[in-house]
Amino acid sequence: MDILKERILEYGTVVTDQVLNLNAILNHQVDPDLMMILGKQFADLFHNDGITKVLTIESSGIAPAFATAYDLGVPLIFARRKKTFITDQEALCERVPSFTKGIVTDIVVSRRYLSERDRVLIIDDIIANGDAARGLVRIVERSGASLAGVGIVVEKTFQEGAKTLRERGIRVESLVKIASLQGGHIRFA
Ligand code: 5GP
Repeated sequence: MDILKERILEYGTVVTDQVLNLNAILNHQVDPDLMMILGKQFADLFHNDGITKVLTIESSGIAPAFATAYDLGVPLIFARRKKTFITDQEALCERVPSFTKGIVTDIVVSRRYLSERDRVLIIDDIIANGDAARGLVRIVERSGASLAGVGIVVEKTFQEGAKTLRERGIRVESLVKIASLQGGHIRFA
């Protein structure tokens, strides 16, 4: 994905050796044209997999997941970070450490929108240690739905998240792989 690499080099800033700031295109301001291109790419990768739902986690996964769901012609579900008591008692809930916030949050999906008849594609913006993706995988498993795979916009290969999912036999497709952020430089894999 040359266009994604170009945008990352143009707008991305290295915060630390571990963290890339993509606020200009993905995590705060969103580039809609770019999102539609990314969504089409994910949809093409999984177009033979009988996807019935795209699943992500609020908030930064929503834009690329929406574009993917739009292209596949299926609904998007975003796991909510639990903040209220309105969530129904039957909801699927998983506890997930947040990479950027350094806290643990509960992520919740209503059973109403995910069932054993569904085939699910998980989409997220960036993968680091894989806690968010693993939480979503557990929710899919507990719903009885089948998992087609995980699509990630930016995989940081120097962190273990995507690797551990692949070791479990889960198909993980990332559009761009970053091998290092050391010295303030973005080095693609
Ligand atoms: P993980 O659960 O894989 O450790 O982290 C994934 C989540 O943390 C993603 O949803 C993403 O929003 C956020 N995240 C992880 N690494 C980065 C990063 O380098 N930059 C930004 N902006 N967010 C990140």
